[in-house]
Parts: sequence; structure tokens; C-alpha cells
Amino acid sequence: MKKIAILGSTGSIGTQTLEVVRENKDIKVLGLAAGNNIKLLEEQIREFRPKLAAVWKEEKAKELRENIKDLDVKVVSGMDGLIEVAVMEESEILVTAIVGMIGIRPTIEAIKAGKDIALANKETLVTAGHIIMPLAKEHNVAILPVDSEHSAIFQSLQGNKRGQLHKILLTASGGPFRGRKQEDLVNIQVEDALRHPNWEMGRKITIDSSTLVNKGLEVIEAKWLFDVDIDQIEVVVHPQSIIHSMVEYVDGAIIAELGTPDMRLPIQYALYYPERRYLPGDRVDFATLSQLTFEKPDLETFYGLRLAMEAGKAGGSLPTVFNAANELAVSKFLDRKIGYLQIPEIIEDCMKNHKNILNPSVEEILQTEVNVYEQIESRW
Ligand code: NDP
Repeated sequence: MKKIAILGSTGSIGTQTLEVVRENKDIKVLGLAAGNNIKLLEEQIREFRPKLAAVWKEEKAKELRENIKDLDVKVVSGMDGLIEVAVMEESEILVTAIVGMIGIRPTIEAIKAGKDIALANKETLVTAGHIIMPLAKEHNVAILPVDSEHSAIFQSLQGNKRGQLHKILLTASGGPFRGRKQEDLVNIQVEDALRHPNWEMGRKITIDSSTLVNKGLEVIEAKWLFDVDIDQIEVVVHPQSIIHSMVEYVDGAIIAELGTPDMRLPIQYALYYPERRYLPGDRVDFATLSQLTFEKPDLETFYGLRLAMEAGKAGGSLPTVFNAANELAVSKFLDRKIGYLQIPEIIEDCMKNHKNILNPSVEEILQTEVNVYEQIESRW
């Protein structure tokens, strides 16, 4: 029996992780953590019977305690609660399916406690990769990618020598606005940006996919996960999302992972690595697949991707600025307080106004986030 805990169990990745658990009968869920959705969390608790549950706000935790008082489940709250779930004694793997930089501290504590990390929460690696990766090495902990592209790269690396990797070909669907120019994006509304052509995901990552900021975050995530330079990562737009990413070796051979767009595959692969399990669902049918196409990303219209590459190359606290500015800008866009094109504008503005800190500590990363938020609030 594999024992796991999940941060962000009520979200898109969290619920799909629980689908994988439901399908396979040999995973025990010991801990669950969520933000606001205590109704769904209660259903999950009743089905999976964890020992511990965490909710962000204490008042919601109180409500949940009352609602499940017939069960023997401890309910905790706040950052301490997230960390308690992250480091649960018997748990072997922590699934980080929480959204945003809030994942940094619990991920670090889980690594220190020797838990393998099934990592979906890319913002943590983008901002604190220089802390997370060496720490994982020190504690002999595996960081198993859940993001479909990174899982594809990870799968394509199996059985090959890492020193023979030439470059990573990171595929991107191009999002719902592929082919459009800046002037076509002026009046984009929240509903338009939430319509992703191929993947069903949480709101923030769906907006990030439409701006290509998500691809930018993934470039930085890949840099840390696979220990490559940003220049060794090429983004290839592939609208059908059948090839989930590729690795090119020194001899020119390219190995790819293909499949239908279904996050349960990378989630299951991370949970059972290196084993593969049967997964019910649609399969790629080459006879009906009419074409696989590829193009270069439009870095002028979707310049958030270019900014991410600049931040990734510079390193230090600049990726935190990129990420924090994007997190707040996207949340303001979702609240209809700013326009769609202001998202990359805000990111660029914050990056220009930042004095980079090399090798920032966790405290400096979190302080940078606070500074960026203050700057945005005062100007936008
Ligand atoms: P969702 O918005 O669907 O879910 C986010 C989860 O985090 C929810 O369970 C939410 O709880 C929880 N959460 C948010 N804030 C807090 C908090 N303060 N304390 C505790 N829990 C909190 O996001 P996704 O599942 O789409 O994405 C999660 C992460 O995975 C992101 O980093 C994303 O980039 C990454 N990812 C997602 C993919 C996808 O297909 N969705 C693919 C690859 C990566 P609640 O809803 O109860 O408030």
C-alpha cells in the first residue's frame, strides 16, 4: 500500500489524483489539504478517510470540524496546517497540487522530512528551484513531475544517459488565441480566455496557457527539473497536444511521449514511477488522427513567454518577480479589474523595476512577492 498526502485536493489536479487513487486500489490517502471548498473536501474525507485534513482559513476549518464530527479526522488550518499535512509521518509521497507560491514552504518541509514529491505546483520550482533541487538531492528525495510536458520529458529520458541530452523540445498548444495579434486581443474577456482548446484545468493555469505565461513557467520548471540551460529548451507550438514534449539527443535522435490529453497519465506515472499501470480512457488512434502540426511561438504577441525566458536566464529573484506579478495580474483579470493585455504589461513593468537578488533565501523570495504585490497595488 502506497501512502500519500495531497495539497490542493479539491482542484483540477487534486481531484484527478483522487480519481487515480480510486481506480487503483493500493494507495492510501493519509492527508488532504484545500483552500475554501469544504463541501468537496468533506466528500473526499468521507470517501478516502484520511487521518488529517487542512483548510486555509480557521473559520472554515471550524465549520468542517463541526460537519465531520462523526469521523475521527483531525482538521488543521493555515500554513502550519499545510505543513502538518506535508510532513505526515507515514506518508511516502506528497502531491503538490496547490496553486501558487504558497506551495514553497510545505514542499521544503516535506523534502526535509524525506517525502518524495509528485510536483504539479510549478510556481514553487520557478521561484525556489535553486533551493528545492539541491535540498531534494541532499535528502535523497525524488521530485517526480506531474505537469504533462515535464512528465513527457521525464519519460523520454528513461534509459538514456543524461549527459547525452542535447535539448528539450517543450510543446505548447498555443492556447485559444493562437494566430492572433496584439490588436485582436484588446477586448478579450475572462470567458474567452478560460476556453482552452485541449485541456480542462484550474482557472489560473488556463489563463496562463492563453497568455503563454504557463509555457514560460514550464521553461523555468524544466530548467530546474532537468538541470539544463534555458537555451537548451525550445518551445514548439503543437496545437493538437498529442506530443506532450520531446528530448533531442546528441546524435540527433528525438524521443517523445505521445498520448491523448489526460492528466491522469502523468499523475499515475508520478505516483507509481517507475512502474506503469493500466489506465482506462481514450487512446491515440493514428488512423483517425489527420495531422500533427508544428510552428514557432509568436514571442511578439505573447511576450510573456519571452519575459519568462529572460527571467529564467537571469535567475535569482527575477523569476519570483515574473511569477508573483503574473499571479496578481491574473487574479485581477479574473476579477475583471484589469484588461487581458495588461497581464504581460504588469509583468514587464515589475521586472524592469526590480533589482535582482542572486540566490535569494525563502524569506527573500517571499519578501520579493510582497514587494511586487505592493508595487502592483500602488500602480494599477
Ligand atoms: P485549481 O485552481 O484547480 O486548484 C488549486 C487547489 O489549490 C485547490 O484545491 C484549492 O483549494 C487549493 N488552494 C488554493 N489556495 C489554497 C490555500 N491557501 N490553502 C490550501 N489550498 C489552497 O488548480 P490546478 O489543479 O489547475 O493547478 C494546481 C497546480 O498544478 C498549479 O500550480 C498548476 O500550474 C499546476 N498544473 C495544473 C495542471 C492542470 O491540468 N490543471 C497541469 C499541470 C500543472 P479550493 O479549491 O478548496 O479553494
